[in-house]
Amino acid sequence: MNEECLLVFSIGPVQGFIAAARKIEDLWSGSYLLSYLTERSILTVLELAEAQGIPCEMVYPRVDPAEFREKRTSQNIEVASLPNRFVCYLKANQQQVAVLARQAEQAVKNSLAEMGRFALERVFPSDLKQDYMKELLDQQVKALLEIFWATERLRGEEDFARARVQVEERLAAVKNGRPYHINSQEGLVCTVCGEQQALTFQGQQSANRTSYGLMKHNLVQTWNQRREQFKAPVVQEGTTRVGRIKDGESLCGICLSKRLARDFFKENKSAPHAFAAFPSTHELTGGTKYFAVLMMDGDDMGKWISGEKRITGMNEPLDTKVNMAYQKELSARLDHFAVSSVPAIVKQYAGMLIYAGGDDVLAFAPVTSALEMAKALRLAFSDQEKGLSPRATASMGMVIAHKKAPLNMVLEYARSLEERAKSFQYPGGKAKDALGLAVLTHSGEIREAVLPWDLEGKEYSETTLRCAVKYLQGLVKMVSNQLSVSFIEHFAQAFLPLLGVGLKEGKKIKVIPDNPEQNRKLMELEMARVLRRSAREECRDLDLSQQARQLIYIHEIMPSTLQFVHLMEMCRFFKRREGKSQ
Ligand SMILES: [Zn+2]
Repeated sequence: MNEECLLVFSIGPVQGFIAAARKIEDLWSGSYLLSYLTERSILTVLELAEAQGIPCEMVYPRVDPAEFREKRTSQNIEVASLPNRFVCYLKANQQQVAVLARQAEQAVKNSLAEMGRFALERVFPSDLKQDYMKELLDQQVKALLEIFWATERLRGEEDFARARVQVEERLAAVKNGRPYHINSQEGLVCTVCGEQQALTFQGQQSANRTSYGLMKHNLVQTWNQRREQFKAPVVQEGTTRVGRIKDGESLCGICLSKRLARDFFKENKSAPHAFAAFPSTHELTGGTKYFAVLMMDGDDMGKWISGEKRITGMNEPLDTKVNMAYQKELSARLDHFAVSSVPAIVKQYAGMLIYAGGDDVLAFAPVTSALEMAKALRLAFSDQEKGLSPRATASMGMVIAHKKAPLNMVLEYARSLEERAKSFQYPGGKAKDALGLAVLTHSGEIREAVLPWDLEGKEYSETTLRCAVKYLQGLVKMVSNQLSVSFIEHFAQAFLPLLGVGLKEGKKIKVIPDNPEQNRKLMELEMARVLRRSAREECRDLDLSQQARQLIYIHEIMPSTLQFVHLMEMCRFFKRREGKSQ
């Protein structure tokens, strides 16, 4: 029997691992943990297949069994660089593959439970009775993990494209049909995620002794017994540091595992010098009060996989067929982008990389270099050498947030902005390939706008004439150096009466609706007048007509005048950040 199969295997829930993050460290460890679990599942399948003499090859992500360990441990060891799923080819029948998949599933569960037990032993003294905590932990691991897989028989090389699509559809069907878990909580919940039960050394004694007071008492007792090095606060060299587990915190098994992740990986990856403490958002701001979060995702990845969109530069005749060689090349390029290109760019702009897996990137950056970094990441994605292919596009959500803003809220906002960027539609042209930008101020105000990377809606490259980032940087410079603070008011006085119905989403100023050419000229003249009126004393003689044209150009491609106003206000914000007074 020489049957061939495709196996797709996915580990989740992604949101469950990272959504509850309150600190950068929790966010990093959630992402890293997920990447580590993927690594465990891949290695399990590779090793079992080898032991049974089953030929096996990873299709996505592109990993070479021999150098898998080597590469992942040496290069950018602290970056979560595996997606939460893999696709592999096996020369075996579906029953054999199902057995392997089940074993990989068990290996993932065991790995997470192992991390949990490691954390328990580190945090609590060995003389504390840990049986009940271990029991809770095992239940929580089982309840949290959502592991799905599907197989599809492959009928020869020509069948690859069909089988790949089919196996993904099967996986989606399995996910949709999953049983709904109801978490029955008997005790008090974790102070980090608020979902799972917080670990406690004692279960309920008997039904009639169950009371909130008793449970609370047990919980406080439990966490007060954590070892000294986890307690707070410790004053070091004049700075107050909070402990790794704060007073009043009581964690579930999953959140505790995340909190201790870097200790675990230090040992597990034999890297005593890596996995140092993570900076806080405070340390990331570079002396200002704000920091940036960037979330990027490749557009239309399904079309690249199915071959509807083709990567170029491969040897003929591979270009014409969506076979396994094509898929492996696709995976290799995504892997190179995530493992080499992205970390280098993030480092260059003094950012911090949380996650880069396939086409997905999550990174932090100082406000001052965030725009440049965004541009470099997007350009690399469509670079023949650094990324996928010249025709590839990606959308990004970038949020500038105050250092005291709740991290989970900032992340959620970045995600929704990325989605809005993906639903961007160029007037009369292509969709997606956009940058969603938002500022969340300390007082809770939100300003947001979406712009295509190439303002002309063309293919984005180094030589793009109307580059959104370049235009924005020019605007920031003008607003910072040449205009007075009354610029927005002057703009509002001149333009908003033309809007008639008032400033709201979906409405756009048009002075002469039936003549776009004349409309633009008139708007440019009016904008030039506003800029002259708003120019600072020493800039009164500058010719700002080019800037006026740029602004009106941006206004034309934006969905609404409201977004345009928000964009200008964000420039004012950048100005404040660069100023010395704040
Ligand atoms: Zn928790």
